[in-house]
Amino acid sequence: MKRFIAALTVTMMFTFGTFGGSGLAQPVEGYKNAGQGYETAFDQRIINRINVDNIYNNIEYLQQTPRVAATEEEYAAVQYIKSEFESYGYEAEVQPFEFFGFTAPHTVELSVNGDHLNPLSFTYTPSGEVTGNLKYVGLGRVVDLEGKNLDGKIALIQRGEISFGDKVLNAANAGAEGVIIFNNTTGNLNGTLGQANDKYVPAVSITQAQGNALVTQLDQGEVVTASLTVLGAESSMRTSHNVIASKKPTNKNKDNGQVVTVTSHHDSVPGSPGANDNASGTAMVLELARVMKNMPTDTELRFITFGAEELGLIGSRYYVNNLPEKELDRIVANFNLDMVGSQDAGDLVMRTVNGQSNLVTDLAQASSLRLNGEPTPFGQGGSSDHVPFGEKGISAALFIHSPLEPWYHTPEDTIDKISKEKLEDVAQIVGIAVYDYASFDNQGPKPKKQKVHNLPADMYHEVSIR
Ligand SMILES: [Zn+2]
Repeated sequence: MKRFIAALTVTMMFTFGTFGGSGLAQPVEGYKNAGQGYETAFDQRIINRINVDNIYNNIEYLQQTPRVAATEEEYAAVQYIKSEFESYGYEAEVQPFEFFGFTAPHTVELSVNGDHLNPLSFTYTPSGEVTGNLKYVGLGRVVDLEGKNLDGKIALIQRGEISFGDKVLNAANAGAEGVIIFNNTTGNLNGTLGQANDKYVPAVSITQAQGNALVTQLDQGEVVTASLTVLGAESSMRTSHNVIASKKPTNKNKDNGQVVTVTSHHDSVPGSPGANDNASGTAMVLELARVMKNMPTDTELRFITFGAEELGLIGSRYYVNNLPEKELDRIVANFNLDMVGSQDAGDLVMRTVNGQSNLVTDLAQASSLRLNGEPTPFGQGGSSDHVPFGEKGISAALFIHSPLEPWYHTPEDTIDKISKEKLEDVAQIVGIAVYDYASFDNQGPKPKKQKVHNLPADMYHEVSIR
């Protein structure tokens, strides 16, 4: 579909060139007169400047290794992004921020009376090797543990009612040296203890069937001995970085005082080269910064790549939360690019925090209508760095292809799955939308404050807390 539309667009431009003499359709007032499925000469300024090979090559460079937040590899990417901004003539700021991080264990083992189970660990479990007799303590509430001495034992606890973190603390307070929590539904239990705590003991999860079998054995009076091993888990303070490059308005006298942000995250999940997630968005932010550098604008354009997105939007939250109120009020739009180039994903969509249209979706629908003959659709969605902006009432949208590609968060997220055609499409839609607003002769919609809409805090995590 997109391929066909792109070809059609080129044909129409050619037709205009043949008949119009000027070679291009005349500029229109913003996008008000648009919707004919062809670009304006105004748009053409951006289209002509975007070089998709620059985006592709930067993805190829960045995806050589995973870029997990606060690792050397992420920092190398930060330095590269900074140097790229500088090569376009920007001054780039590297903004450090600290967070409490967890490294998942490399070894998680559990054997019960010699049988090997396949447990999962909990986020924020400490490492340790423990052997002891199992003691079943129900849901692991304070009342379940009252008067019980679990010294030297491993607590067997059922999921439910209170958080995993509280279950582990209650058992540890009663003397347990390790904790096994079994699911209360089918499937694996992938959980988090919520935050690190020195009082935690090593904790793993098993399935409901495995847990019930152990409870039955214990009920029959059997002595069940378990050996629990968690190695390589580590919780500590870490430092990640955002990279910020700003293009001030061309003419100080025509500064409208507003800021449009174009953002991405540069970190990846462990084990994934993150070509699409999110070297693609990062390379596109870089290219749009290069394209816009010498364009005449009355709006500040701020290009930012964030760290530690994959750990819960930490970099973007830090950025937004540390802006003075006055500075925050100047930001009228956030175009957030996350996963914008996979050949194996679906079509481009926009996601806003509250599911409503806003300045960003209005601008991008207008530009995509002109480019592709149909507006890019939008809907509600979180899970990326537009959320902290949207929650502050700023018009913000995530640009992403839906459905996601099968390589998402896997070692297969590599450069060979990247489509230049998709990259070019998104870069043009966003580039034109941004320029539409930031250029001197913008006739488009004015920014409006969104209603602040709080999302459930744990929607960025795939793991449960209880
Ligand atoms: Zn991402």
